[in-house]
Amino acid sequence: MHSGIVFDIKELTVYDGPGLNVAVFFKGCPLRCWWCHNPEGLELGYTKSQNGIIGTEYTSKDLVHVLEQYVPIQRRLGGSLIFSGGEPLMQHAFLVDTLTRLRSNIVLDTCGYADEEVFHSILPLVNLVYFDLKLLDDVAHIYYTSKSNQPILKNIMWLEKCGVPVIIRTPLIPKITDTLPNLREIARIVGSLPNVTRWELMHYNPFTRSKYEALNMICPYQETTQSEIDIPYLEMNGILCDKVEVLRIGG
Ligand code: SF4
Repeated sequence: MHSGIVFDIKELTVYDGPGLNVAVFFKGCPLRCWWCHNPEGLELGYTKSQNGIIGTEYTSKDLVHVLEQYVPIQRRLGGSLIFSGGEPLMQHAFLVDTLTRLRSNIVLDTCGYADEEVFHSILPLVNLVYFDLKLLDDVAHIYYTSKSNQPILKNIMWLEKCGVPVIIRTPLIPKITDTLPNLREIARIVGSLPNVTRWELMHYNPFTRSKYEALNMICPYQETTQSEIDIPYLEMNGILCDKVEVLRIGG
């Protein structure tokens, strides 16, 4: 049996859909996005903060036991178990072990940066994928997230081959991700993949700055202004996408 480290389990209201949605946040992320809203989840192991140690170790059996309490309500009212992070694929063996023991509607919330074999192996175990597409210019992607977007682009194409439903999410970071060339390119990918059911543009939430302070970290992204992107502006600029939705929550 595998074990892993989780930094939060919570009932969510930010994900669409009726019923009870519960998210499990796995520690560890391969990216370092300047605007990251979950800095406490970046490191794979435990993290020291002013409020104590962040992270709880679970065996997959114990985690399933915690999550199973939500399953009867989800069967009655709908809802999903969402595996998020950090990047849940960073603890691949623990994730697989957990998912194979669960009988529920499973959502994987991923940045898409993972080895092909790791990514492919998880898809038969999930019902829906939330997939982040932040920047299509690779130089900018490396600069703002610390890694190339090439594995991410390969993995998103694989999702189409598998036919897994996908919701693409793009954080709207002023002058970084919310530029017209970037959004145009992402819209092209959204339009070309029939299994993408929605494209969510997520406004940046500057109020996560206090998390960095508690971790004695400096947030690399210091701007507090919000993107002005909205659907009329996208349409005026020829980005027509019937799947787009603009969300004013952190991202
Ligand atoms: S992918 Fe998500 S969790 Fe990872 S650094 Fe970027 S915003 Fe943070």
